Amino acid sequence: MTAFDLPSYVTVVMDTLAAAGHRGYLVGGSLRDLLRGVTPHDFDMTTDALPEEMLEIFKDFRVIPTGLKHGTVTVMSDGNPIELTTHRVDGDYRDARHPESVSFTRKLEGDLSRRDFTVNAMAWNPETGLVDLFGGQADLQAGILRAVGDAQTRFREDALRILRLCRFSAKLKFDIEPDTLAGAARAVEGLSLISVERIFSEITRLLEAPDAERGLSALCAVKCEKYVFFDTVSGVNAKKLNELPSDAALRMAYLLPHLSREQALQLARRYHAPNSFGEALGAFVEGARERLPEDAYEARKFTTRYWHHWRGVLALQAAGGKNIAVAEQLCAKVSRDGSAVEVRRLAVNGKELQEKLGVLPRRTSELLLRLQDLVWRDPELNKRAPLLEAAARICEKERDFCE
Ligand code: ATP
Ligand code: MG
Repeated sequence: MTAFDLPSYVTVVMDTLAAAGHRGYLVGGSLRDLLRGVTPHDFDMTTDALPEEMLEIFKDFRVIPTGLKHGTVTVMSDGNPIELTTHRVDGDYRDARHPESVSFTRKLEGDLSRRDFTVNAMAWNPETGLVDLFGGQADLQAGILRAVGDAQTRFREDALRILRLCRFSAKLKFDIEPDTLAGAARAVEGLSLISVERIFSEITRLLEAPDAERGLSALCAVKCEKYVFFDTVSGVNAKKLNELPSDAALRMAYLLPHLSREQALQLARRYHAPNSFGEALGAFVEGARERLPEDAYEARKFTTRYWHHWRGVLALQAAGGKNIAVAEQLCAKVSRDGSAVEVRRLAVNGKELQEKLGVLPRRTSELLLRLQDLVWRDPELNKRAPLLEAAARICEKERDFCE
């Protein structure tokens, strides 16, 4: 029997259930990770205790009723959250995502057979040892992802599993068993019913995984690119994707190099992604096509424009075959010495230009950009008096700034 070195905040939950005549089993990703020698990032458990019984058994713990209707509570054990779910069997699925009903069962078997892949469908408890009804342990050792039960049926029930399949292949670097892959390919239309938020969450996790290339080739093998990237894609080339920094926006920009900044923002909005993702994606698709800086002035311009994305932009250019050595050195220097000055860090502001020199409000930002360009050329100029003088000289020559 496998014995794990479990933290005491986990065993105390199992012991509390046992003392009440029930059993708590480790399940899902936490067990999978323990079996492959990786420390789990969280611990999920399943139990034969019904929801109201769990509340009674853990009355001396802080319990958050996370999803009580679905049989899930979060037990705070010594400050750590443990998700505890009553064994469940799902009812019929009608919309390729949500079961019509869930029912609770005292039997672990039912709970395990509704899980997606054999490596995710094992359970462990100190008394029973490993409960492995579908050959999960063997698949884990062989590095294989295999659907529990009939693959096509399982993917038809819930199309999100198709993306989970690709994501796990990228995360675990596992091969996909042929019938599982074929079943996923046949159920791919169900993805049109999956919410964009979930698609975004799966694709970003896949892209950031250690073997994103493998995940992408699985996505392409089941032909679900258009459900993931919508109309932005006609084909994807994921070669060398793993060599790029593990950043979802950057890697997505690499896959969709033809997007304009505006199209990138549109795609991010379509995913309901955070603004920061859209901004990063936009910067990356645009920056990947930009001419590389060759001197300090150009480097200041470049790093100000791409700001904290400049390193990623250069990584994309390198992946595209450019020699970035000089640009990288220049950009690193100007971002270190603070000479890549943004408009708001100029030594004069718009109000001063208007009050002191009579610059028209509608021409003020243009003048500030001119001053910024001068400062990029000569960082010493970024002091109040010399900068006001420079502004006055411009206004003298080009009178329409003031009248
Ligand atoms: P991760 O390390 O990414 O958290 P995980 O396997 O723990 O991986 P979760 O999404 O946390 O994944 O789900 C926990 C467990 O619940 C899974 O291991 C699997 O057994 C089951 N599960 C989750 N989502 C589904 C689904 N859509 N269909 C079937 N089973 C699922
Ligand atoms: Mg998990």
